[in-house]
Order: sequence, then C-alpha cells, then structure tokens
Amino acid sequence: MSGRVLILGTGGTIAGVAESSAQATGYRAAALSVDQLVAAVPALADFDLETRQVAQVDSKNMSYAIWTDLHREVVSGLKDGQLEGVVITHGTDTLEETAYFLARTLVAAKPVVLTAAMRPATAVSADGPQNLLDAVRLATDPSAAGVRVCVHGLVLPGHAVRKRHPYAINAFTASREPGATMEEGWYTVPAALPEPLGFEPDLPWAWVEIVGNAAGQDGRTVDALVAAGVQGLVIAATGNGTLADPLLEAVRRAQQGGVEVVVVSRCAEGHIVGQPEHGLPVLCVTAVQARVELLLLIRWKQGMQRARVAAAKPGN
Ligand code: ASP
Repeated sequence: MSGRVLILGTGGTIAGVAESSAQATGYRAAALSVDQLVAAVPALADFDLETRQVAQVDSKNMSYAIWTDLHREVVSGLKDGQLEGVVITHGTDTLEETAYFLARTLVAAKPVVLTAAMRPATAVSADGPQNLLDAVRLATDPSAAGVRVCVHGLVLPGHAVRKRHPYAINAFTASREPGATMEEGWYTVPAALPEPLGFEPDLPWAWVEIVGNAAGQDGRTVDALVAAGVQGLVIAATGNGTLADPLLEAVRRAQQGGVEVVVVSRCAEGHIVGQPEHGLPVLCVTAVQARVELLLLIRWKQGMQRARVAAAKPGN
C-alpha cells in the first residue's frame, strides 16, 4: 500500500447526484459523502486514506466558518508526521477563492491538493473519479508541496487558478501567465507568491465588496457602500486598470476614509501591467481572489493591532 493521504470533503458537484446518468446539469450538488466518493474509485484501495467530512455544501454557499474549519483540519494534517499530503474535494464555483485563501494562509511543506468535478458522480462520464485519483496521487508526491488545484489532468497553483467556463469539462485555467511577459514596453515577471499572511481563527471577518467599472459608471455604489460601513473595496477596472473619473473620485474618497482599496482588471485573461496613472494599489489576480486578499489583509492588520494593544497593557 502506498501513500497516506487525508481527504477532506466539502461537497460540490463531485459529490453531486442527478436523477438520470444522462444529466450533467440540474443535479443536486453535495449529496454523497467523501467516503462514498472514495469507495467509487477502486484504484484508491492502493492508498492508505483517512477521510473527514468538513462540510457538505454547494460551493456557492462556501462560508467563512467552513474556511476556518477547513484551515484547522489542513493544519492538523500538515503537522501529522504520518501523512504525505492532504486532498480537498470542493465545488468548482468558489474553488478559486478557497484555493487562494489556503495558499495565502498556509506554510505547506506537503502537497495540499484541491480537486472538483464539472459533472455529478452519477453522470455517464463523470470526471470526479479520475480527478480524485489524480489528486491523491499528486498528494503523495513531495515535489508537489504547496497548495495546488488538480483537475482535468492539470495541476494549477492555488493562488492563480480561475474558473473560466460555467459547464465545460475543462473549466479551469491559470489566472496569470506562468512566465515573464513583454507587453507595451513593460517587462513583467509574475511576482512570486508573497509570504503567507498567517491566519488567526478568532479574528472577525471584514466586509469587502467588488465594484466594477463599466460604461456609464459613477461613484454612487462606492459612496453607498462606504456610508454603510464597507471596509474594503476591490475595483474590477476596465482594461489595464482604468476607472471612470467619477468612480475614481469616489474611490479616492473611500480611501481617505480608511477603506482598503485594490484594483484588478475585469478582463477575462491577463492582468494589469505596470502602474496605472491613478496610482491605486494593483493586484494581478482575479476579482474574487483580490477580495480574499483584502479580507486577509484587514484581518492581519487587526491581528497586529491586537498584538500592539496586548503588548502595551501594564505588566507586559
Ligand atoms: N455548484 C457546484 C459547486 O460549486 C458546481 C460544481 O461543483 O461544479 O458546488
């Protein structure tokens, strides 16, 4: 028997069930347990597997509470000297964000592999079993240490994965170019993933929204969100990071009021090259990933503040 792997189930289409094997849509996601998924793949009998059902949701309902539980389970798996790696079964709809969240908060010296499926387990050509087998195999390869997504024969970095299609079987792609580019005179080397920010489970989650630039856009959405107490804004800007003038003015007002702001491109491919004239902070990730980044950044700042207050208490 090879490799000891922990499989954490969270639901999704990989655990979905339809009334007929001809159906690849109109199914019920998150119906089968992680043990049932494993039992359906005879080749997994060659591995020493431990399973845990962390959640059972359609990933459109992925929550901060589930992320906190998942993070705890992965950390405990990474600490277990007997385990070679961890696999997470997940819905495809928010896989992009969970993978990013884990990639930015874990120091993973072993593989942490997220996998998913576009067709329910009952489909005549379900993709889940092969994806699960591939993910478990990958999780036993020490050279794959770190957070990865393994789907449809692809291995994508956890911090740079994008769901590009709502139902195609090959629905995932890397959200940024793997190598350097020369565009418009800008030599761009995709930045290495910065040091993980860490994760203190008991801190509150901030309120962060995504606002897009579009024809006719004005600043009213931003002003309304700021008035309602939003703490972070991701601006899905046009093209290479441009914002309509009234939107830019509203964003600057928000920033002055203490709201964290980052800009990403709303384009389906590529990322912002260089520093746009407005000078706002730019991220080369998808809008939903940028939202996770701001959530984590605000938490990190709260953690620093808490540490400062604790250090300043008399007796310390
Ligand atoms: N709605 C499903 C989910 O994200 C879609 C999927 O898994 O493909 O859970």
